[in-house]
Amino acid sequence: MNALTQTPITRLSSLLIIIICVVIAAVVIVVGVIGYTRRRRKRRRLNLLQLQGLNADQELVSYENAEPREEKPTSAPIPKEVSLVQESVYEPVGPGSSARRDALPAPPPSPSPPPSPAPPPAPESQPTYEDVGLPTWANQWIVAWEDLMVGKKVLGKGHFGEVHYGGVMFEGDVCRAAIKKLKENALPADRQNFFEELKTMTLHGSHPNLVKILGACQHEGILYVAMEYLSNGDLRCYLRKARSMEDDGQASLSPQKLLQFALDVAKGMQHLAASGVIHRDLAARNILLDDNLVAKVSDFGLSRGEDVYVQTSKTRVPTRWLSLESLTRQTYTSKSDVWSFGILLWEIATLGGTPYPGIKTPFLTSRLENGYRMPKPDNSDAKIYDVMVKCWQEDPDDRPSFKKLVSILETMADSKEDQIYMRLLPSSKQYLYENIHPELDDN
Ligand code: AMP
Repeated sequence: MNALTQTPITRLSSLLIIIICVVIAAVVIVVGVIGYTRRRRKRRRLNLLQLQGLNADQELVSYENAEPREEKPTSAPIPKEVSLVQESVYEPVGPGSSARRDALPAPPPSPSPPPSPAPPPAPESQPTYEDVGLPTWANQWIVAWEDLMVGKKVLGKGHFGEVHYGGVMFEGDVCRAAIKKLKENALPADRQNFFEELKTMTLHGSHPNLVKILGACQHEGILYVAMEYLSNGDLRCYLRKARSMEDDGQASLSPQKLLQFALDVAKGMQHLAASGVIHRDLAARNILLDDNLVAKVSDFGLSRGEDVYVQTSKTRVPTRWLSLESLTRQTYTSKSDVWSFGILLWEIATLGGTPYPGIKTPFLTSRLENGYRMPKPDNSDAKIYDVMVKCWQEDPDDRPSFKKLVSILETMADSKEDQIYMRLLPSSKQYLYENIHPELDDN
């Protein structure tokens, strides 16, 4: 009788003990998870502060994907300002229309509006993968939204949208990053180019003279690509700023440095060409400089992984950097990149001058067809001008390969004769550098 009445009580008490244990375990787990999340957020915040060169006790500079907080204005600086960037203006041309049109370049795209919480409706002609997330080939580059820090600071504006200063969290450490954000109202062609850029960056592998990709993320319909951060901004701005610094007696450049920029770019392009990629937009504005002024090729938005690419769609075209066959037949090869490299060399020599300063864009193609080429810049040695001219040969086969260009420039850089190939003119002769024509800069 006793045993019969005690058994359910014993059972009840063991059940109670089990329930209490389960509840305690659940509480411990929940507390642990909350603690871990808080620590992770705190570490992330501290990392961001370090990233921005701030002390931990200073005010947090807000970033777009921070946990909601009241935003306070702050003047805390991000390490280096890269601000002289203008919006790119490319002339939209296509087969048959091309650069001969009399129209002035299209106005720059308006800045992207602030991100909205809801994903934008997808344009009808978009490929489906854009609606469901990043394409599968990008899988190994996907970064979780929580690990991406998109700063408010805009480093520059490109054709597709803005580039923000930020960071990417890798195993608890933050790596400085430039985060390219596709603007919400982007055209399907721009989205396509954005994906092409991402694809090219994943394809070409790592090289010290090519900007590296750190990761990609799609959040609320907006695409983000994080790249290594290059603190000295783009080469064209750097060269132009250096003109005034020369005036102030603060020499930031040397003839050797100018040659080194050219060699760095040629090496990056040699790697790109060997990887089977055509850049199609090689210009000083698309070369970025790191902390040590190492030049790296960037902006692969127009690049294609094909031996010969014939442009069939109407799209932006950087006319002044294009080879004759690209202007007349919309044909692009690695040798048309070589032509652009010759223009870039001329930009370096003229400290960021606008190519063909005296020629209006609609007249450029016919002038080139009639054999016109830019004259030797006054400060340039005949040998470096000879390299430019070789790059501008009408027949692509007559142009040197990037491999050959690397070897020519390396020989010049190693030259024991201390020969100066691109002189820096004294400020009294600054006027000899080619003029800057912002209205013709990118087209
Ligand atoms: P893009 O859209 O690639 O032409 O970039 C627009 C501008 O953003 C450039 O001219 C740079 O000033 C800036 N920018 C782009 N990528 C980076 C980077 N990796 N590091 C620093 N600044 C960058």
